[in-house]
Amino acid sequence: MDKRLFKEWESCVKCGICRSVCPVFKEEKSEPYVARGHITLLSELIKGNIDFSEKEAKDYLYKCLLCTTCVESCPNDSHTDTIVEIARHEVIKKHGLPTYKKILSKLLKSRQAMDFAFKSASTFSPIFAKKNNKPRDGIKLRIEVAGKDRLLPPIAKQTFLDKYGNDKKSRVVLFPGCLINYTYTEIGDAFVNILKKLKIDFSVPKKQLCCGAPIYFAGNFEDARYLAEKNIELFLSLNAEHIVVLEPTCASMIKLDYPKLFMYFEDKKWEEKARRVAEKIIDPIKFLFDQTDVLRRLKKLPIRTTYHDPCHLKRALKVKDEPREFLKAISDYTEMKEADRCCGNGGTFSIDYRETSLKIASRKVKNILDTKSEYLATSCSACIMQLADILNLKDHKEIKVYHLLELIDKALEA
Ligand code: SF4
Ligand code: SF4
Repeated sequence: MDKRLFKEWESCVKCGICRSVCPVFKEEKSEPYVARGHITLLSELIKGNIDFSEKEAKDYLYKCLLCTTCVESCPNDSHTDTIVEIARHEVIKKHGLPTYKKILSKLLKSRQAMDFAFKSASTFSPIFAKKNNKPRDGIKLRIEVAGKDRLLPPIAKQTFLDKYGNDKKSRVVLFPGCLINYTYTEIGDAFVNILKKLKIDFSVPKKQLCCGAPIYFAGNFEDARYLAEKNIELFLSLNAEHIVVLEPTCASMIKLDYPKLFMYFEDKKWEEKARRVAEKIIDPIKFLFDQTDVLRRLKKLPIRTTYHDPCHLKRALKVKDEPREFLKAISDYTEMKEADRCCGNGGTFSIDYRETSLKIASRKVKNILDTKSEYLATSCSACIMQLADILNLKDHKEIKVYHLLELIDKALEA
């Protein structure tokens, strides 16, 4: 492992400031579930001084949202997310992946397999799921799989890549991410509409694969590396100026975690390639704000809005003010309390620890209602899934959950 990564845990001075901000610690009140506890236990694990059983490892390592709230508030810039990711990798080397994560890894590595799985699910979804359209269109499974009464995203009839994929070269390249490609395609449509209204030429490379975030965060670095290399080769061959990644988690994975992954493998050649790609990665909100005049062209909509900051957009990509500027321009905007508090989704965290995940999400509901806004906007599909689910469970179906790109599209005249 590259020695630059060791500084991530050697800088922790055990001050405990992270205890006051960690959403998981707020619910669990136990030291192994906060940054300081993670760092103490996991650094000893990586140095080989202690060992975990499979059950302990799962408990200590996977009950972290990787939300990086602790990193943001740490006076010593200790990167808990990096140490948790590395420790997960050490543990799966010894104990292997849980079965469902093994299947997920195999699926995500193959576009054909993903297409087949989602297209089959779309065809048969009337049999195993019923529609539920509040607070956002979604489906509920007739059998309990990912949690009782869980509101899941709808499965698209036509994927984003099938609709827009091509092999041309452009200054602007789009990477939708799996959630927008297979489920929330209407969010991708909204960004495409905006680009068309602004007369910006773009391309959508058909050969792009999953960014690998779900398997990297599970500690499966080998399969994540496979996906990273495929995507990096593709992006470098396109020679684009901007690679607009529609999901902040995917953007942060490609921009920040790909170079880190190659540092872990001490592969300088691929690290350098990953850094060249990283320079071009941009989130769509930041792209519209910095690279276009769209803000000046928006009309005001007669709606009251509030905004939830996705962790990866605010903390990893540092995009915080731009979404608020857009919302102030197009609506009657009210800032909610603790807008940047994690929604509790955390990818597979919301499947593995549904109860804790919902407790974390429940704290957001009061803050949303206090703003008296009828529209909740955010900029991440996973946050949309989590917030629509908790608002549905708490019977607050009067709130409409939207992606900010959908609202910008509505407010932008053709
Ligand atoms: S991770 Fe940072 S905030 Fe937490 S105990 Fe260590 S130095 Fe303090
Ligand atoms: S990344 Fe988030 S959940 Fe994990 S220890 Fe830090 S604050 Fe807690």
